[in-house]
Amino acid sequence: MTEKKEIIIKNYMEDIVRKNLNEQLEKRDDLCKCELCKNDIFAYSLNHLPPKYVVTDKGHIYTKLQEMEFQFNADVTREVLKAIEFVKKNKRHE
Ligand SMILES: [Zn+2]
Repeated sequence: MTEKKEIIIKNYMEDIVRKNLNEQLEKRDDLCKCELCKNDIFAYSLNHLPPKYVVTDKGHIYTKLQEMEFQFNADVTREVLKAIEFVKKNKRHE
């Protein structure tokens, strides 16, 4: 073996949700976008979506991520939207 590859285990759903969430938040000005609320939205979305774990080397992440994004983006958009509404109604700070 000449090339050393770093093998990792990864939940692609996290990256897809994070990206989708940032895109949706950019379009809204009716919500709090602090770290707490953003992470609440992130966690709520992930709890309502199936995890997509893969074992891969770092070089392959991005092509695979695009495929998965294409496949799951409609579901992710729906869940992120629900999460936004939930957190908006259940804000944990003043
Ligand atoms: Zn907030």
